[in-house]
Amino acid sequence: MRFYRPLGQIAALTFDLDDTLYDNRQVIRRTEKESLEFVRGYHPALQALESSDFHQLRQALRQAEPEIYHDVTEWRRRAVELAMLNAGLSARDATIGANAAMANFAHWRSAIDVPQETHDTLAKLAEKWPLVAITNGNAQPELFGLNDYFTFVLRAGPDGRSKPFSDMYHLAAERLNVPLEQILHVGDDLTTDVAGAIRCGMQACWINPFDGDLMQIADSRLLPHIEISRLASLTTLI
Ligand SMILES: [Mg+2]
Repeated sequence: MRFYRPLGQIAALTFDLDDTLYDNRQVIRRTEKESLEFVRGYHPALQALESSDFHQLRQALRQAEPEIYHDVTEWRRRAVELAMLNAGLSARDATIGANAAMANFAHWRSAIDVPQETHDTLAKLAEKWPLVAITNGNAQPELFGLNDYFTFVLRAGPDGRSKPFSDMYHLAAERLNVPLEQILHVGDDLTTDVAGAIRCGMQACWINPFDGDLMQIADSRLLPHIEISRLASLTTLI
């Protein structure tokens, strides 16, 4: 554990999910592959769809509706719907198809092997502090066994703009009834997690499982309070 700023009192912990509590890289690769196969197999007119086509549709949607990126699930659903409309499906069939594709997506997206270390660490921390999950993504902790550790889960879209915007950080403090400065936010992303949390007055822990160098990483702007390479190090704060 490295200290960059003095830690203050801690009354609650908030956690990013992806790449903080488990390695998400393989999950995303598999989910993208399975999702594309599902859409291709859904209707003969979609057989030739490429992931680059899908990417272009997403970008077109974002250009037309710049705020859509805050809700990654809805953004994806709309892109699938658009692909189906472009392929000649009726509006009704495209909606039904997009919903089916999203159910398939949700299945693979949350097919996550959570390390035992994460379970053990969260269980110990939860005995001392309320824990909250704050995610920009669409993983559902109730589908991979992490839900019980959290007092509640906040997700970008339904619960506000995505991190680094402060919407969900403020909402967490409000719902916990704890001042922002007594919350330690833990996450792997130096912009959305570390800078976002520090700018709104929280304390921040950067988890650096892939051995990055804080002084070299391009999006490094604000020093976290602490840096850890393994989640289990947090138990030393108890
Ligand atoms: Mg993350």
